[in-house]
Amino acid sequence: MTPLEYDRSFIWHPYASLKAPPPVRLARSASGVEIELADGRRLIDAVSSWWCVAHGHNHPAIVEAIRRQSEKMCHVMFGGFTHEPAIALAQKLASFAPAGLNRVFFADSGSISVEVAAKMAIQYHAALGHPERRRILALKGGYHGDTSLCMALSDPDGMHTLFKGLMTSHLFADKPSCPFGGNWEPAYAQSLAYAIDAYGHEIAAVICEPILQAANAMNFYHPSYLREMRRLCDESGALLIFDEIAAGLHRTGPRWAQDHAAVTPDIMTVGKALTGGHMTLAATLASARVADTISNGRPSAFMHGPTFMANPLACAAASASLNLFAANDYAANAKRIEGWFSRRLMALRALPNVADVRILGAVAVVEMQRLPSQADISDVIDSHGVWLRPFCNFIYSMPPLISDEQTIDRISSAIMDLASRPPDTTPMDPDFHE
Ligand SMILES: *Cc1c(COP(=O)(O)O)cnc(C)c1O
Repeated sequence: MTPLEYDRSFIWHPYASLKAPPPVRLARSASGVEIELADGRRLIDAVSSWWCVAHGHNHPAIVEAIRRQSEKMCHVMFGGFTHEPAIALAQKLASFAPAGLNRVFFADSGSISVEVAAKMAIQYHAALGHPERRRILALKGGYHGDTSLCMALSDPDGMHTLFKGLMTSHLFADKPSCPFGGNWEPAYAQSLAYAIDAYGHEIAAVICEPILQAANAMNFYHPSYLREMRRLCDESGALLIFDEIAAGLHRTGPRWAQDHAAVTPDIMTVGKALTGGHMTLAATLASARVADTISNGRPSAFMHGPTFMANPLACAAASASLNLFAANDYAANAKRIEGWFSRRLMALRALPNVADVRILGAVAVVEMQRLPSQADISDVIDSHGVWLRPFCNFIYSMPPLISDEQTIDRISSAIMDLASRPPDTTPMDPDFHE
């Protein structure tokens, strides 16, 4: 059995069947914008390995920070101990975050940081004497992770329908339909206002992915929606949680997606690009009001504590990554990438199988009526040397923020080729989402 055959038979891949596994490629190394395969071919990573490789793969400064830390201490439990990498990172994160969000909980993945955010909101209201406020209001079209509570907050008709009954029922407002860059009408927030009006006394928090609904919708919406959300939360006493795991750290242009609206949440989650895609780490940031209220309640302790909380290697990687975010003008990079993509891809709107093209910052989305076949997708990846991973009916790219014009040109050519191929006519595999 070759290693690849072993992989096919015994190892699950994300959102994949073990019976008829989709093809996987054997990766050997990665650097800059490229992934090198075992046979020596190189692919441009046009999806930043699920949107986290902001500075490019194996960035020397981050690799060096991990190496230096590994010589001193790879791990120590965070219960009863603390360490310099965690303290330095907490300080850096606070200086990066919107003013006031300087209380930090380190989590080992994005999903866990969302679980932590929701638990903070519920514990906050319990501490205020309102244990009945335990529902979270989320948005249709949203995605917040794959663990149970995160699934319960993600689009109810999205990728987790199989688990519907198992999940506590939270509340959903309509998917924001006011496009980024379009004209704002107050009616766009009607469903949100209605839900808060009707259920406000049960709602602990409202959660959303600010500006960019990524994994379930690839939807860019209007900043005024966030301003309206902040106002409605203030009126009703619900906390506001922004999940910046996908959109934060310059993916849509500014450092945080919420900066488009100049609105600050009470709790915010950061992940994916936090370590520049080198280690798994996420963080939940909270305001002093949230932290103090929880601490003054009963129990005073916040009830969460993962084994690998604040892993020193991951904290060292994240600090090195934040140094790179501070030293580079990624807002300008994202703007340039937006321009390069727009120049090439907007013309695709004329194709019959293309429903829409949307580009914001370093995110380009070609929404198809129907994707081309898996064979066509593989052919485009191999012939252009560009790694794409279309899902649902989206062909998209979220390239590393260091990508130059030539890289974006090559990605655009691959996307144009793929979008021009015929739609797949075989019946949809109900198991296949991502
Ligand atoms: C990816 C993602 C998550 C989940 O993060 P994991 O690290 O995969 O657990 C949560 N929220 C958003 C917005 C994401 O894009």
